[in-house]
Amino acid sequence: MKGRCVIVTGVPGVGKTTVVNGALKLLDGEGISYKTLNFGTYMFEIAQKEGIAKDRDEMRRLQKDIQKKLQKHAAQAMAKEEGNVLIDTHASVKTPNGYLAGLPEWVLRELMPDTIVLVETNEDQILIRRLTDETRTRDLEGSYSIGEHQQFNRAIAAAYSMMTGCTIKYITNADLLLEKAVEDMAAVLR
Ligand code: AMP
Ligand code: MG
Repeated sequence: MKGRCVIVTGVPGVGKTTVVNGALKLLDGEGISYKTLNFGTYMFEIAQKEGIAKDRDEMRRLQKDIQKKLQKHAAQAMAKEEGNVLIDTHASVKTPNGYLAGLPEWVLRELMPDTIVLVETNEDQILIRRLTDETRTRDLEGSYSIGEHQQFNRAIAAAYSMMTGCTIKYITNADLLLEKAVEDMAAVLR
């Protein structure tokens, strides 16, 4: 990977993809481009080929060692990309057996990000966004538990920065303030 590598994370339903797409559109006008890689899609394509998952939301319930194997192969494939890349993923994945690091040491060694962005907002807002998104099989959890997941992501992101020397940027994607989040994201990518 020769260009910049920015990893964008955030709990399901926080609006990562929306913020990223808005920022990339802004930058397009400035002649700055990033190739967006979706970590879950890389994992899912491998999982589908091997017949281990039929739906991307099934993957976080697979056996831990299988998730880790998919994760490792996805990271190796993404590391082959040239130029600026933006990776859409999770700082941690909520599995039935607890949080699984989204960027463990063997993944970070492949990707060596310049920056890890945490897209966050108030947990009640995330709960409502999940309830109104019918395109995905979102886990049923309350706002307390969403808040706990966001706290865990901040903690584990600190470990990622120690491992790689990358910077950690928090971006708030609050209701009615999408434009602010888009501008903050564009600033990180410039
Ligand atoms: P997403 O579409 O971003 O919600 O990702 C779909 C699924 O891919 C997640 O629910 C996880 O099971 C898996 N996934 C995505 N990124 C990672 C990662 N860095 N480590 C492990 N699993 C991941
Ligand atoms: Mg997404």
